[in-house]
Amino acid sequence: MKVKLLCSSVGVDEGHQFLMSYLVDDVLAIDAGSIGMLSPPTLQDKIQDVFLSHAHIDHIASLPIFLDNVYRPSPASPMIYGSRATLSSLRGDFFNDRVWPDLFRLSATETPFLRTQEIESGKTVDVGRYRVTPVELNHVVPTFGFVVSDGEASFAIVSDTSPTDEIWKVTNAAPNLRGCFLEASFPNRMDWLAVKSMHLTPAKFAGEVLKLQVDVPVIAVHIKPAFRASVLAELQSLGLPNLKIGEPGREYTF
Ligand SMILES: [Zn+2]
Ligand SMILES: [Zn+2]
Repeated sequence: MKVKLLCSSVGVDEGHQFLMSYLVDDVLAIDAGSIGMLSPPTLQDKIQDVFLSHAHIDHIASLPIFLDNVYRPSPASPMIYGSRATLSSLRGDFFNDRVWPDLFRLSATETPFLRTQEIESGKTVDVGRYRVTPVELNHVVPTFGFVVSDGEASFAIVSDTSPTDEIWKVTNAAPNLRGCFLEASFPNRMDWLAVKSMHLTPAKFAGEVLKLQVDVPVIAVHIKPAFRASVLAELQSLGLPNLKIGEPGREYTF
């Protein structure tokens, strides 16, 4: 299974990730931070299913652009998966004819721009050959982490969250786990902001890694660009043998 951590910067790429999205084998996206910026646009046409962790803008920013880019019109349209809270936020806060046209209303009367499917924590969704299990994390809005399997390998995404437990049980039980993306947003000196915004610091990242019982790479993601140097130094000083720093644009093979 190939998992690409999509880029989200224009110009010289210094490893910063401003927006979050992962692309599995070119066809399944987790979050939509930058999928609408993929070029050439034929790469966007391949994406049929999009799972949303939550409705914070760094995870959905390019969703309207993506839906515009792949609309032909035709009876086929991408399936957007999210919690009731996330889908409700899309309707009320995003596709409300002010921020962006109400694609839900347009889809009801014309050929659809999108289809939606509500997903629940702990209930696995089968999409083609993929099994996607959303698990509630611990963030300021209802947020899912995901464990994704293709029958041969599995990987987990644990972001955005403060310290959490349930996802680790599901991750530890996943068949042939090969890797885990884990957030590390703020440096340790900004623990106060990590607490308030319900994110992790490197110290708390280390606490989460202790809950992982499988010997696989742990890939640090969601590092706030303004504090990247501090976060990287603190992560490296943890001495974790399995630590990798997420590289936007890189395709990971699991
Ligand atoms: Zn968030
Ligand atoms: Zn985020």
